[in-house]
Amino acid sequence: MINVLFSATPEAWSAYAKPLRAAFAQEGIEVTLGTDLAPETVDWIIYAPNGGLHDFTPFTRLKGVQSLWAGVEQIVENPTLTVPLARMVDPGLTQGMVEWVVGHVLRYHLGMDADILRTDGEWVKHLPPLAQHRPVAMLGLGALGTACAQALSALNFDMHGWSRSARQIDGITCHHGDDRLDDILSTAQIVVTLLPSTPATENLLNGDRLSRLPRGAMLINPGRGPLIDDEALIAALDSGQIAHATLDVFRTEPLPRGHPFWTHPNVTVTPHIASETRPDSAARTAAQNIARAQRGQPLQHVVDRKLGY
Ligand code: NDP
Repeated sequence: MINVLFSATPEAWSAYAKPLRAAFAQEGIEVTLGTDLAPETVDWIIYAPNGGLHDFTPFTRLKGVQSLWAGVEQIVENPTLTVPLARMVDPGLTQGMVEWVVGHVLRYHLGMDADILRTDGEWVKHLPPLAQHRPVAMLGLGALGTACAQALSALNFDMHGWSRSARQIDGITCHHGDDRLDDILSTAQIVVTLLPSTPATENLLNGDRLSRLPRGAMLINPGRGPLIDDEALIAALDSGQIAHATLDVFRTEPLPRGHPFWTHPNVTVTPHIASETRPDSAARTAAQNIARAQRGQPLQHVVDRKLGY
């Protein structure tokens, strides 16, 4: 029998309680699962930062924390957390991101806005290049970036990817390391950022980097707000260096009313919906990971606390 604390919002608890109980039963794990367990009895925590738990010191027999979110920047530097932290890598989350990214890349690639927004009765044809002639850069080749890049590669896009360490992925020209970023940016007509928010990635797309892109490039950011220097992006949009940006994540969320992104004609704002953690599949993923560790197997997707992701 293990005791698992669910620490997230009450709405999340309503959505997760049943699938989590079913998933632990399927794993053959007897569990006491709740939102209000005595800290000193808790073995595992299933966690999202919006549950308000920030001090892990009372959890004296805690074995690990399974995050419900893929992004862990709000917990990774918490000094009171001394046990392993696993991030969420889940088929439902991945598939959702693939669909969102492919949809927004195709919007740009096909120039869909020109047709969708046309109401002037003009019969104007515009012919996009075939995908094989459209260089797309995926910054971040982790669980989500790789799946998105593979889906775009399957549509024949000229796919380039960038990561910290070396990667080999069929159909994708892979680059790694800071000194290769300018190369990949110099040809990319569409850039997608699926990097974590860490000290090393903060303001990665600053004015200098945005200026390396071909004029008129388009940017899609479902990663994290701090990856982009907001003021530099607005300047690049105003000058036409960046033709359009689709932003799902922001330094402050919800994006404050009155923020220039809301009204900029060349920005699409989406409210951090690129991919939600889906309770049914995420509950299975969380229960399976905790069950693995209970059976003595290594916990999967453990965050490197030094790297911050
Ligand atoms: P992973 O940890 O699996 O992958 C991260 C990728 O970023 C890896 O390829 C990693 O390189 C690369 N990376 C990290 N730091 C650097 C660096 N300094 N320079 C170059 N590359 C770097 O993360 P996921 O793919 O699962 O998720 C990515 C991000 O997506 C999350 O951190 C989160 O912020 C965001 N997200 C957004 C959602 C939304 O709805 N908008 C939903 C879910 C996630 P390497 O391969 O060498 O380790």
